[in-house]
Amino acid sequence: MANKPPFIAGNWKMHMTIAEAKNLATAIVKASADLLEAEIVLAPPFTALSEVKKVLEDGSVQLAAQNLFWEEKGAFTGEVSAPMLKDAGCQYVIIGHSERRQYFGESDAGVNKKVSAALKSGVFPILCIGESLAERDRDETMDILSRQIQGGLEGIAAGDFKSIVVAYEPVWAIGTGKTATPGQAEEVHSHIREKLALSYGIGPAECAIILYGGSVKPANSFALQSEKNIDGFLVGGASLEAESFIQITREAIRAYKEKK
Ligand code: PEP
Repeated sequence: MANKPPFIAGNWKMHMTIAEAKNLATAIVKASADLLEAEIVLAPPFTALSEVKKVLEDGSVQLAAQNLFWEEKGAFTGEVSAPMLKDAGCQYVIIGHSERRQYFGESDAGVNKKVSAALKSGVFPILCIGESLAERDRDETMDILSRQIQGGLEGIAAGDFKSIVVAYEPVWAIGTGKTATPGQAEEVHSHIREKLALSYGIGPAECAIILYGGSVKPANSFALQSEKNIDGFLVGGASLEAESFIQITREAIRAYKEKK
């Protein structure tokens, strides 16, 4: 298994005025000079994308959006398209976050259209998958994830798959303070990689970046990143403060170096 430099993405959700977003991005960019072994991605709300982009201009920290619509343009009030995200300077876009699946009725078929639309515009998808607590309790975790992977990646060719980051986010761990244990997360990550290998082959599956998300904090990031199949994190709450986000990144880098 290729040990990859940690990929650490901060999902700011519906937080931050433009001024707050600029301040947070500035603090992270400043600290990132000492964190060169990690790939850092920030996902501010749409309203702050352009201004945060200016802050990121000269550094290596990358920009992500939190959602998109699959059409390129048209009468879709309130929606934002992949070409618009590209124009705003986004390298990545989060797709299929459990909050969107839960509150906005997103289905695997819709997620799949969004993945295709992002790829077509040269924006890399961060595809989120994960089971609910009830599904875990019913022992359905692996089936749910297999279905989400199959549905979300339907028709995506091997060449495009290389541009996709997968984020495993157990719904019961998001914003709840309950983190999956490193063992629980590793078990699922290894299943995801096996599933990807069936569709795309062992080599591409080994190269795929698979993130864990769900109450990641400075205190648990070293142990999680130390697992063989965990390549980084999608961080919600703890990404809203520079100190905790940077500390998570430092711990992930420490684990990466020890894994080598
Ligand atoms: C998320 O929203 O992607 C997330 C993982 O949130 P939190 O870290 O707050 O659980």
